Amino acid sequence: MSEKKDRIPELFGSMVFNEEAMSQYVSRTGMKAWKDCLQSGQPLSLAVANDIADGMKTWALERGATHFTHWFQPLTGVTAEKHDSFISPIEGGRVMMDFSGKELVRGEPDASSFPSGGLRATFEARGYSAWDPTSFAFIKNGSLCIPTVFCSYGGDALDKKTPLLRSMDAVNKQALRILRLFGDTETQKVTPQVGPEQEYFLIDKELYLQREDLRLCGRTLFGAKPPKGQELDDHYFGAIQPRVAAYMKDLDEELWKVGVLSKTKHNEVAPAQHEMAPIYGDANTANDHNQLTMEIMKKVADRHGLVCLLHEKPFAGVNGSGKHDNWSLCTDTGKNLFSPGSTPSQNAQFLLFLAAFIQGVDKYQELLRCTVAFAGNDHRLGAQEAPPAVISIFLGEELEAVVDSVISETAYLDREKKALRIGVDVLPTIPQDTTDRNRTSPLAFTGNKFEFRMLGSSQSVAGPTTILDTIMAAELKEFADKLEGAEDFSAALHDVIRDAFTSHRRILFNGNGYDESWLEEAEKRGLANLKTTADALSAYILPKNIKLLTSLGVYTETEMMARHEIHMEKYCKVIHIEATTLIDMVQHAILNAVSAYSASLCDTILQKKAALPGVSCKVEEALASTLSSLNEELLDKTMALKSALETVSSDRSPEELLHYYHDTVFGLMNEIRTIVDKLETLTATEYWPYPTYYDLLFSV
Ligand code: ADP
Ligand code: MG
Repeated sequence: MSEKKDRIPELFGSMVFNEEAMSQYVSRTGMKAWKDCLQSGQPLSLAVANDIADGMKTWALERGATHFTHWFQPLTGVTAEKHDSFISPIEGGRVMMDFSGKELVRGEPDASSFPSGGLRATFEARGYSAWDPTSFAFIKNGSLCIPTVFCSYGGDALDKKTPLLRSMDAVNKQALRILRLFGDTETQKVTPQVGPEQEYFLIDKELYLQREDLRLCGRTLFGAKPPKGQELDDHYFGAIQPRVAAYMKDLDEELWKVGVLSKTKHNEVAPAQHEMAPIYGDANTANDHNQLTMEIMKKVADRHGLVCLLHEKPFAGVNGSGKHDNWSLCTDTGKNLFSPGSTPSQNAQFLLFLAAFIQGVDKYQELLRCTVAFAGNDHRLGAQEAPPAVISIFLGEELEAVVDSVISETAYLDREKKALRIGVDVLPTIPQDTTDRNRTSPLAFTGNKFEFRMLGSSQSVAGPTTILDTIMAAELKEFADKLEGAEDFSAALHDVIRDAFTSHRRILFNGNGYDESWLEEAEKRGLANLKTTADALSAYILPKNIKLLTSLGVYTETEMMARHEIHMEKYCKVIHIEATTLIDMVQHAILNAVSAYSASLCDTILQKKAALPGVSCKVEEALASTLSSLNEELLDKTMALKSALETVSSDRSPEELLHYYHDTVFGLMNEIRTIVDKLETLTATEYWPYPTYYDLLFSV
C-alpha cells in the first residue's frame, strides 16, 4: 500500500545483522550451529565462524561498510572500538575485501590505556576481545560493529559485559532448578529482562561551547538559580518544542536502524529535560542498546546544533537525570516469573521468587548501593528528587498485605477471614499498573517487574543488573538446596517463604522515601544509609559480597579488588578535574569580570561626584563594596582549593584519598560555588563571562 506506511518496519533493524539477515547470508548449517551455540553456550568451530564472518562481510559491504570493529564496554563506562578496514592486498597492487572467522571471533585491541585496576600487568598490555554471539552485529558510521567481551590474557574480565553474561547464566541455572520443582519441564531458559528508561538534557550548542565546565565536566560547577525553574511543573509531559521534536524524530529513526526499540518519549520535570524509553529485552541486548542509545543521542544532538547532556546533575536547583532499570525474569516459553498467577501453584511460585528477591535485596543492600555510587550520582541520591541512599522495596499495599499475612499466618482476605496457605490459596489479583506508584522508592514492584530507580543517567545498566541477577541467583540457590531434598515439599515451601518474609520484612517500605522521618525509621530498622560514594565504596568488598559474587562465578576476588580500586580512583579523578576546572574559570574569567564591573562602578561614582557634588552614590558604593569583599573571599577560597589539590599527598591510602576528595576538595568547591552564585546575581549581565542558567535552560 502506501510507501510511507511501510517505511518504519523496513527501516527498523536495517543496519543490524539480525536473525533474518543472517538467514539470508549464512548457510543453513552455519545457522544451526549458531543457534546450538546460543542454547548450549559451547564455542563455534572455526569453519562455522568463517561461514558467519563471510556472510556478515557481504551483508556489511552491501550496506556501505568499509571497516569492522570489535565493540566493547571497558570499565570507563563508555564503549570502545578500534576500526580495521576490510581491505587486504592482492597481487597487482590491488586489494580485496576480506574478513575471516578468526577476525570475527577474537580481536586484540591495544588496551594498555583502559582502566584495569592492576589486573593486567604492563608486560601483557594487550587484552583481547571475543565475539558475543548472543548480541547482533550492526553498522554504525560505516563500520561493522561486533559486540564483544573484553578480557585480560589471564582471563580476567576487563569490561562490563562479561560479568553481566556470567550473572545471567547464574540466575538462569538457579531459576530452572526452582521451576523444575514446580513441575515445569518445558522451560529451557530463564533470562533477565531489562527496560532502561533514559533521562537527558538538551541545550544549545553555541551556549554549551562557552562553558568550560560543561565541556570538561559535563555539568555546571556554578550558576545562580533562574527566576523560574521547575516550580510550575509545566514542563513535565508538556508539549514538545519543535526543535526538540525534530531531534526526537531523528533520534528515533537512528535508533530504529540499529534495532533499538525506542518507544516512549516525553518532556521531564526540569526545563530542557527529556526522557526516552525502549521496549524491554534480554539484559545483554538491553545493555548494549542503552550504550548505543547514549552514544547516538549525543551524535544526533550535534546535527541539530544541540548538545545532549547525560550527566546526573548538569544544573543545581533543578532535577537531575536518572535511569530506571526495569528488571524481571522471563522464560523462553514467554512467562514472566514476577507475574502473580491465577492458580495456587502459580502463586506459590510467584511468592517464592518474590521472597528470593526480598531476601537478596535485604542481605546485599550495601552492594546494590555500591552499584550506583559514583561522583555524578552523589548529587541526586537523597536530594529530594531521587530515591534516598537507603535501599528499600516498595511492594504496594495489596502485596505487602499478602506478605504480612504469610508472616503472621493470620487472616489474609478480610472478607473470608481465613489464613493464607501457600500452595493452596489463590492470591487476589495484583493490579498490573497501580496508579499511585510510589515514585520515591529505590526499588518498586510495578506489576510484574522491579524498577531499580537509583541509577544515574550516564551509567551503564550492566553493573546494577549484574548484581540484581546475582543476588536473585544466590537466594534461589539457597531455596532450591532446601526444597530439592524436602520430604514434604508444600510444608518446606511454606517455611522457606515465611522465613524469608519474616527475616527480611524490614526492607519493605511503602511510605515517602523523600521524608526525613524515613531515614530515622530506616536507622531503627538497621538498614544501611551510605550517603555518598565515599561512604559506600568500601562496602563493595565486604566479605559477604566477595563470597556472593565469587561463589556464583560472576567475579573472581581479583576482579572485585580491581573494580573497587578503579571506582575509588575514578571518583578522585572526577573531583580533581572538576576542581581544576573551577579554579581555571575563577582565575581566568570570574575574578576579572567582577573586578572590571567594580571598577566601572567606581568610575561612575567618581563621575557622578564630579558632575553633581554632594549627590548620593549609595547604590554604586554598596554594590562595589559587596562585590569587592565577595571577590576577595573568592580569591582566598580558590587559593585554598588550589593548595588542597597540591597537598594531595601520595602517602594517603586509596580510602583516605576518597574521603579527602569528598570532604576537603569537594567541600571547598561547594563554598566557592556559593560565592560565585552570589557574584553572578550582583554582576551586570554584560560583565558576566558565562551563559547563565536562564540562557542554558530556556533557549531551546
Ligand atoms: P513507567 O511508567 O515507569 O514509564 P512503563 O510501564 O512505561 O513504566 O515501563 C518502563 C520500562 O519498563 C519500559 O522500558 C518497558 O519496556 C519496561 N518493561 C515493561 N515490562 C517489563 C518487564 N517485564 N521486564 C523488564 N522491563 C519491562
Ligand atoms: Mg519508570
